[in-house]
Amino acid sequence: MSPPPSQPVVRPRSLPARRWVESRTWGLILIVLYCLAVVWPICLKLILKGGLPGRLLVEVGRVAALAAFTLLVLQVVLAGRFRSLDAPFGLDRLMRFHKGMAVLAGILLLTHPILISLGRGNFSLLTSDMRWFILVGKTALAIVVGMIAFSLLFGQIGVDYNTWRFLHKGVIFIIVLGFIHSIWVGADLTRVPMLVLWSALLALAAGIFVWRNGYVPIWGKRRFRVSDVRQETHDTYTLRLEPADGRPLRRHPGQFMFLRLVRPGRRSETHPFTISASALEPAIVEATIKKSGDFTDTIGQTHPGDRALIEGPFGRFSLMYFDVERFVFLAGGVGITPIMSMLRYLRDTGDTRPATLIYGNKTAVDIVFAAELADLPAHIRVVHVLSRPASGWPGLTGHITAAMIQECVGEDLPRSHFFLCGPAAMMEAVLRELKEVHADRRRIHYERFAI
Ligand SMILES: Cc1cc2nc3c(=O)[nH]c(=O)nc-3n(C[C@H](O)[C@H](O)[C@H](O)COP(=O)(O)OP(=O)(O)OC[C@H]3O[C@@H](n4cnc5c(N)ncnc54)[C@H](O)[C@@H]3O)c2cc1C
Repeated sequence: MSPPPSQPVVRPRSLPARRWVESRTWGLILIVLYCLAVVWPICLKLILKGGLPGRLLVEVGRVAALAAFTLLVLQVVLAGRFRSLDAPFGLDRLMRFHKGMAVLAGILLLTHPILISLGRGNFSLLTSDMRWFILVGKTALAIVVGMIAFSLLFGQIGVDYNTWRFLHKGVIFIIVLGFIHSIWVGADLTRVPMLVLWSALLALAAGIFVWRNGYVPIWGKRRFRVSDVRQETHDTYTLRLEPADGRPLRRHPGQFMFLRLVRPGRRSETHPFTISASALEPAIVEATIKKSGDFTDTIGQTHPGDRALIEGPFGRFSLMYFDVERFVFLAGGVGITPIMSMLRYLRDTGDTRPATLIYGNKTAVDIVFAAELADLPAHIRVVHVLSRPASGWPGLTGHITAAMIQECVGEDLPRSHFFLCGPAAMMEAVLRELKEVHADRRRIHYERFAI
């Protein structure tokens, strides 16, 4: 599989070196800052009060609310799609963390009135207390619980993603209500240092919210024009986009963007898509899109001249982040797009590191980029696997299995890096197969097409 020893392996690097914000050091700094941001209000409260006085449960209940409020403000920061936050972690990982912190904030907020009631031995707070500032707190709590439940269940109850995203903006009301409630009931918060900190947190959340929902949609996105629409398969199209200002969109192979198409007579929505064109031609942006829902079903009705707004690039699913000796790409369906971008990079830079692509599809007509894949240099081996092949298909059938990976990669397995992208069920199955062949977890990289 590897090139013969007489041919030296070429590893050119034709893209700009990685930026500092993509480094581990910046990631560690952000983690430390996050932890400090959560702990700081609690420390300040304890310093101002001289320890945990009075009834312990009541104080712990108050501390829980302080931590929850700070976490909610930081949720707005995490969801701000800042490239400096995406760069060291990747937006998908950031969003998974965001989800976990939402649940933690919800639990802390729920424990807040319970602990205070337990500490005071009086449960009227939970039941009959209807003072306006308590009602404000109760309303905030009800919205938090409703939003978390909705976020965890929206897929199952058939709510469209964009409706969910719109309702999700309600987090700003929770923060404002939480601020009013806490300032009114929390004597500690009226002390100047706490008041300043609390107001700064509110201003931070409000500022990012207005910037993300007001400024970015109008002025914060790059403007492009659709210059070509190519049909790749019966249900997949490639849109070619050119920057209106001629400025290239520099990115690493495998990264993605948020794309908003502005087409006459159609509602315009923002969706994430991989930038499938070669990263070596930054003035050209392409998205290869499969029909899979309300918006993507209309992708074939896009025409040259339509306008597009782009935000990005984002993501860390790229060969540029790892020191790879040998590549194994595992793709399913339209999950080929980030992998194709990496294969184009290897081809266009003359990189001869050995690579194998194992590409699963239902039938031969579902194979995206079939002709280009057939024409890749010899050191990139392409293996097609079809789950519902027509009779006479000469290749592999079924799903990607451990045996296939073993057979294709052989002795190179321990030194291989695996790049995986495809439908959710396929990815779970392939991750199990990779476990079976004892692939090193640190060398398995994947992108889920869901944020
Ligand atoms: C990082 C990334 C890269 C992607 N690259 C490609 C690609 O190269 N080619 C391709 O065909 N598809 C890609 N996708 C998937 C693509 O974003 C969805 O297929 C598309 O958003 C579906 O929208 P819809 O309205 O047609 O379908 P719907 O039925 O409305 O949505 C189907 C599912 O897509 C997801 N989704 C919908 N809208 C959004 C949104 N605005 N933001 C985030 N997720 C959303 C949700 O999980 C939803 O349940 C990518 C997704 C991600 C996260």
